[in-house]
Amino acid sequence: MAEIGSETKLGAGLYVVATPIGNLGDMTDRARDMLKRADLIACEDTRVTAKLLTANLIKKPLVPYHEHNGAAMRPKLLAKIAAGEAVALVSDAGTPLISDPGFKLVAEAQDAGHHVTAAPGPCAAIMALSLAGLPTDRFLFMGFPPNKSGARQSWFTAEEKTHASLVFYESARRLPECLQDAAQTLGDRNAAICRELTKKFEEVRRGTLADLAAHYAEAGAPKGEVVVVIGPPPHKDEAGGGTDMDTEHLLEAALKHMSVKSAAAFVAEITGEKKKALYSRALEISGK
Ligand code: SAM
Repeated sequence: MAEIGSETKLGAGLYVVATPIGNLGDMTDRARDMLKRADLIACEDTRVTAKLLTANLIKKPLVPYHEHNGAAMRPKLLAKIAAGEAVALVSDAGTPLISDPGFKLVAEAQDAGHHVTAAPGPCAAIMALSLAGLPTDRFLFMGFPPNKSGARQSWFTAEEKTHASLVFYESARRLPECLQDAAQTLGDRNAAICRELTKKFEEVRRGTLADLAAHYAEAGAPKGEVVVVIGPPPHKDEAGGGTDMDTEHLLEAALKHMSVKSAAAFVAEITGEKKKALYSRALEISGK
């Protein structure tokens, strides 16, 4: 691939390009360069991307690529790449494929043996993790929750025991009811509401789920765009309890194949629970 700043056209391939999530200053040099040197740009909404191109003094043919026309557009875009063209893929904002279209196009381009690369950049979920002040060693990105309360509660319950911070997008309008459901199903964990990131009214509101649910129940839905980050469940040791059923089964299964010490270390790795407590329980199970 030619160097950044070169005026030459890009080689044939698919270029996944991240764009700003609010502040136009977050456009990277590589992103701008790829869009300048691509043959065409596939985007969700041509009006949104046209504004971004104008702000960056770029003129390029735009073709719509979204969930409704993806199946029809993919063979056309792949044919263009096969014919030697460089196709850039952008979404309305942030990193394509992250709660945005693109994964099937990337998969098919990879399967066809085409050159596929990316210009990484802004992503609301990652920026929220940078600001939430919650553990980032393990996190689960969950996309958008279901709109209806019952389905949303099941959606949270399914991750109740996941030892990771949970990160998801939510419409500001539904935030108050979503937080009620989260507090009800996940218990009182620490969380952060990260709003209008990189924009004038950027705000990070931190607290327990109960505090945050009470705040938005009182204040009403906020304006703008929102990412929710919820911290992991407390370790069983911190909560003062023993091990739960899933852990028990895991320990039993592990003990069939390895020593007490290895089984405890293995299950600690999977569940995030304390190795010492698991070791004691593993000793009991194995009757040692
Ligand atoms: N692909 C994008 C990314 O990399 O962040 C996300 C696209 S998703 C369709 C749009 C959602 O991302 C919004 O509803 C909101 O939850 C979140 N989001 C996007 N920009 C944001 C911002 N500036 N501040 C907070 N949340 C944002």
